[in-house]
Amino acid sequence: MPRDGHGRIIDYMRISVMDRCNLRCSYCMPLEGLKFLPEENLLTAAEIGLVTEAAVSAGFRKFRITGGEPTLRKDLTEIVSRMRAVAPEADIAMTTNGILLPGLAEDLKSAGLNRVNIHLDTLDGERVRQIMRLADIDKILAGIDAASAAGLTPIKLNSVVVRDLNDNDLVEMARLTIDQPIHVRFIELMPFGSGEPEEIARQQVVPSAESRQKIEAALGELIPDPSPDPADESRNFRFANAQGNIGFISPVSDPFCGFCNRVRLSAEGKLLLCLLRDDEADLRSVIRSGGGVKAIRDALSKAILQKPVGHALDQGIHSSRRMHEIGG
Ligand code: SAM
Ligand code: SF4
Repeated sequence: MPRDGHGRIIDYMRISVMDRCNLRCSYCMPLEGLKFLPEENLLTAAEIGLVTEAAVSAGFRKFRITGGEPTLRKDLTEIVSRMRAVAPEADIAMTTNGILLPGLAEDLKSAGLNRVNIHLDTLDGERVRQIMRLADIDKILAGIDAASAAGLTPIKLNSVVVRDLNDNDLVEMARLTIDQPIHVRFIELMPFGSGEPEEIARQQVVPSAESRQKIEAALGELIPDPSPDPADESRNFRFANAQGNIGFISPVSDPFCGFCNRVRLSAEGKLLLCLLRDDEADLRSVIRSGGGVKAIRDALSKAILQKPVGHALDQGIHSSRRMHEIGG
């Protein structure tokens, strides 16, 4: 098992395959002034396969494909197939806004994808347009149906909670878990990278404790439902007899750094050692200078030893990349 310099087991890699997106969520991307990577800088499907193989040989057991919006990659099915070919036993999931899933879900499942997290901040169509700018709720709901029909389950919905925008819609999102085997994750907004001044973004953060109180006041007691995975950053609960569960991810009010088990690969092949810091290692140059699986594994193992102990978002310190470049 790969361990970092602080004794944590690091066996989970989030792989961003694309920095572009078909949406402009208010806390993730500004509407204008964005610069995207030129296509030739993105890792190819074959290169992503090589990194996956190196990671598996180093002991990684869990992967998540993300972006930007991963479904914008024309070769996404090939990426999944290549990953599955070298990681037959691994858990391979994907985070997506779901809009393009209706034409893709079956192929992704056949290629070896296990499951998806779909990003949906509210069930109110008008507010979806306000927060997840350019989004149409009917398309996201169709994506959820397609994922469910293809067996990309259990489906988790990611909802970023934004004060005065969707903080009153939590209850309806939470209610979904009662009759359907859907898991809803409420994520505290991380106040950077949106193009808004940071003090304004900070005012939009709703602590998880407040979200939980609101849900319990409306729908009754939430019973702890701990994840079997101790490195799961989500603190999970369920209503008695509910089919799905509810999780709270609290990077601002209650960081999970002590149990962090992950590294991130950016779409251009930089290994990012912490979501909220700039420490990184360049794996693309190892690959493109002819390094094979062993050279990539050595670079990966060496970089992991430099993983920072934790982040300092509460002091206003964060990555200089935006969330659509990091992958969330
Ligand atoms: N486009 C896909 C999506 O939206 O799910 C995948 C990439 S997106 C960067 C991954 C996740 O990051 C999203 O599901 C969203 O919940 C989360 N996210 C983006 N910006 C965030 C922010 N400022 N604070 C907290 N979570 C954020
Ligand atoms: Fe796109 Fe996801 Fe960022 Fe929204 S959160 S703009 S869907 S990358």
